[in-house]
Amino acid sequence: MRVLVVEDEPALALRLQKALQAADFAVDVAYDGEEGFHLGDTEPYDAIVLDLGLPKIDGITVLRRWRQAGRTTPVLILTARGQWSEKMTGFDAGADDYVTKPFELDEIAYRLRALIRRASGHVSPELVCGRLRLDTHSGRVTVDGQPVQLTAQEFRILSYLAHHAGRVVSRTEMMEHVYDRHFDSDSNVLEVLLGRIRRKIGADLIETVRGQGYRLGAGAEPAR
Ligand code: CA
Repeated sequence: MRVLVVEDEPALALRLQKALQAADFAVDVAYDGEEGFHLGDTEPYDAIVLDLGLPKIDGITVLRRWRQAGRTTPVLILTARGQWSEKMTGFDAGADDYVTKPFELDEIAYRLRALIRRASGHVSPELVCGRLRLDTHSGRVTVDGQPVQLTAQEFRILSYLAHHAGRVVSRTEMMEHVYDRHFDSDSNVLEVLLGRIRRKIGADLIETVRGQGYRLGAGAEPAR
């Protein structure tokens, strides 16, 4: 899953970036409202962390503009302590969740996973797709109850497919949601990683749809 962090305080932005990368997210960072708006408007993020006090364009205005432009990406806002009016304004502008500063970094990751899951129609943190089970919080993956050890990159790919089980995911879409914007998308790393995942979970679980992409849980209804 790929997220955008819009935060002007460099030390906090870096801490958020590191913590979310450690939690298996691909992370882009913007340091002002203008850059933040542009990235959120043009890149297909799975969720966005948005500070409200930002240079150039304030966070509420950024959020309003995304919503007016039809962007439905889940947005978690960062608010100052005790500013209830700020939270209300945030929700009015289209925020999905908020966290009050100062916060635990882990809490951001947990809330983002929940927002992303909900946005793709899943209620439980454990995604079930036939014989495959994937726990979005712990990162635990099992096939027929047997644990499967995946690398961080392999997990990101499988997790994206599991969130969108039953649907064909193109190579481009997968690259856009598994890697940050500085990744060199010309490499054939995706095919290599998919090959490794198939060897670990069983080749039949991920179907290649010729000329279109990949599908987890072929022929089955997406597990909800
Ligand atoms: Ca700020």
